[in-house]
Amino acid sequence: MLVKKSIDRIVHYFLYPSSQYKQNRITLWLRELTAALFNLLSCLIIFFAGILDTIKNGFAWPYGFLYQKNGIPFYHVFYSLLSSIVGGLISVTGHMIHWMGIVIRLLDMGRPVNESEKEIIVSVFHQSVNPEIIRIIPLPFWNKHFFVLHNYIFTPSNVTSISSALLIHEVVHIWQFRQEGCSYIFNALAAQIRYGIKNTSGNAYDWKAELKRGKIIWQDFNKEAAAQFIEDVWKEGASCIYSNKGDKTITEAGNGKFFQMINLSVTGIQHELPIMISKSNLQDYTALAMQAVKKIRSTKY
Ligand SMILES: [Zn+2]
Repeated sequence: MLVKKSIDRIVHYFLYPSSQYKQNRITLWLRELTAALFNLLSCLIIFFAGILDTIKNGFAWPYGFLYQKNGIPFYHVFYSLLSSIVGGLISVTGHMIHWMGIVIRLLDMGRPVNESEKEIIVSVFHQSVNPEIIRIIPLPFWNKHFFVLHNYIFTPSNVTSISSALLIHEVVHIWQFRQEGCSYIFNALAAQIRYGIKNTSGNAYDWKAELKRGKIIWQDFNKEAAAQFIEDVWKEGASCIYSNKGDKTITEAGNGKFFQMINLSVTGIQHELPIMISKSNLQDYTALAMQAVKKIRSTKY
């Protein structure tokens, strides 16, 4: 969306001023205030665009009356409308609270991702997420969780660095937000409420449970399971040599090796291939991982 891109550029301008810009606490505060305000505006646009889109895709007015479109069941349309509205309200309220927090100088715009984090993000997402617009914002003591609103990754107060695997998980949420708008928040929360967040099988983060529920395409997973899958590919994906007999030998695993191997395969000089074997059940999920990465990288920021 062109408007959204322009707003991103304005936010970027206020967050990363040219070096000759006179810096002091007041100008920094004003710049952060303006950047946060434009992010709020962008969130409002996504909110309304999401609702209009759901209505446009769900209903038609062929004879001057409201009809369901393409035989989509009413509860589907209702659910996506509900998720756009509730997700949008949560997101807009979150942005407003954050903005007011900056006004009273209780909160700020946190920090941008550093160079190594940027490298990690690009190695997975390529052109689909712009790392420059991401801000990592620690919240005061009352927050114990990591969560994403739009371009912000909120963290507990005492967190100074994020592990690469967790960073990838949170950036998947940023990608989901950019693809699906505010409804992502409702869908992620609904999955947490429905399946639980406890460390038991079948919880919201358990992507193998999503497969058992009949969801075989990555983007059909609930938002938490989808993010967890990419996180697990980062942690468990590997490089592998296949023998002529078809035997597999894992050469290096973890730390984004899977994504590194896909990136290498583009150059054509490849003796090894990426592989995703789950540590918990030793099953091969390479095809699913390839499908997910292809989907993510098919979009452009
Ligand atoms: Zn998550």
